[in-house]
Amino acid sequence: MSRLAERVGQTPFYALDRRRVTERVQAVRSVLPPGVSLYYAVKANPMPALLGHLAGLVDGMDVASGGELNAALNAGCPPSAICFAGPGKSEQELRQAVAAGALLHVESMRELSLLGALVRSWGLTGARRPRVALRVNPDFELRSAGMRMGGGAQVFGVDAEQVPAMLAAVASEGLCFEGFHVYAGSQILKAEVLVSALERTLAMLQGWASLCPSPVLSVNVGGGWGIPYHAGEGPLDTAAVGQALACAMQQMRQCWPQATMTVELGRYLVGEAGIYVCRVLERKVSRGQIFVVTDGGMHHHLAATGHFGQVIRRPFPVALAGASSEALPERVNVVGPLCTPMDMLAQHVELPRAEPGDFFVVFQSGAYGASASPQGFLSHPACAEVLL
Ligand SMILES: *Cc1c(COP(=O)(O)O)cnc(C)c1O
Repeated sequence: MSRLAERVGQTPFYALDRRRVTERVQAVRSVLPPGVSLYYAVKANPMPALLGHLAGLVDGMDVASGGELNAALNAGCPPSAICFAGPGKSEQELRQAVAAGALLHVESMRELSLLGALVRSWGLTGARRPRVALRVNPDFELRSAGMRMGGGAQVFGVDAEQVPAMLAAVASEGLCFEGFHVYAGSQILKAEVLVSALERTLAMLQGWASLCPSPVLSVNVGGGWGIPYHAGEGPLDTAAVGQALACAMQQMRQCWPQATMTVELGRYLVGEAGIYVCRVLERKVSRGQIFVVTDGGMHHHLAATGHFGQVIRRPFPVALAGASSEALPERVNVVGPLCTPMDMLAQHVELPRAEPGDFFVVFQSGAYGASASPQGFLSHPACAEVLL
């Protein structure tokens, strides 16, 4: 670990293993049936070197801002293989996506009107028209999803009840209709949850077949494949999800013979390929409790502190690396340097007795790390990120 730290030149840092990313993409592809494309959700980790690596491996990228759109283009992702979702797209972002030729996942009537105005003012015809898919907030909920993003009242997508009116507007605004997008949750570890969401999604979409202005070309069934973080959690049964996708493909093609499907995975592709490494500054005892104070914390790794949408705060898998890592384990809290009790990287974990200079490692840190953390909070130095 000290050699790696020397190579990076500082702590704290994130290190991602490109080989593990490659293997993960291959493993996912091996369970996806023909006709299902694999996209990467840039939001999970937008590190430019990682995007460059992934651009050669996946079929496309899912972006959620103008900045992510540029990052995907810079990485070499073909513009036609980029889809753009997000509940608050600015007019500028819509123009940017149309000019690039990306697929827009439309989430409101306002977006449709702005796109229609663009068709008229830019005089877009034929293949140059804005490409749109409707992002639907389904009329069912995913139970047991770590972070629910579909069903009930949501800012994401348009309610299923509004879809018929939206489809009519897609046609009247002169847009190029390509299909639907449904993303109902994140960090799902139970295959049966994904499978049932898929079945219900397909049934819902097919109910609108006669209302679509043209046959559906693609259905994006979202991401949400989870990875185990905590004791007692096991890996997702991806083979079962693959089988369900094969059934869904068959069912979809009865209705739309030309259509393809897309899964857009973030966490699942990169989460397990990354570690976060910081250095122990001191070991402090306060009224019987041991605090291991490090130079890293929630400003770099909000998720490890349990404040990134988690309902229950439980420690990530962690380890201590250093001269004293042979020492007897003791129960400690590992904290960062920020002046807030929220800055706790691991609570009540067993670690060998830590000494200043030891390295503290957080595993499962390749997704929702640096870019999903409040780096400016308390003005500590930024962390480094490397792809090895
Ligand atoms: C965040 C997001 C994803 C990725 O979710 P993961 O749980 O990381 O797979 C995919 N699609 C959309 C629209 C998203 O917002």
